[in-house]
Amino acid sequence: MILMSHVGNFVEDGVALPVKMAVCPLCGGRGHHARNLGTFTGEEMDDLGDQFREDYAAGLLDSKCEQCDGLRVVEIVDEAALNQAQQAELKEATRFADAAQADYDSEHWLREAGG
Ligand SMILES: [Zn+2]
Repeated sequence: MILMSHVGNFVEDGVALPVKMAVCPLCGGRGHHARNLGTFTGEEMDDLGDQFREDYAAGLLDSKCEQCDGLRVVEIVDEAALNQAQQAELKEATRFADAAQADYDSEHWLREAGG
């Protein structure tokens, strides 16, 4: 089961929130993406050959989307369905996630600055 990170915090804490399915934002609902491959110029395609070009166009070389695990949809919190207590909990979890990210960012910045 794939959940957004701040939702994951809730699940770990044992708090259930209403969720709904949404098109995966990473692969755009394709279930796979070619992100790891990068893109190829026409010249590179020529070098790699027709078979490669066909496979690439057919998506055979794409890797399974790691966010939705190839399911094309992910679960997100259905904010419209939250009651007041759940809204408060979501807000708290989001704040927690933001703080964790800010911590990470500042530590990252320190590492960079400290060289
Ligand atoms: Zn996906």
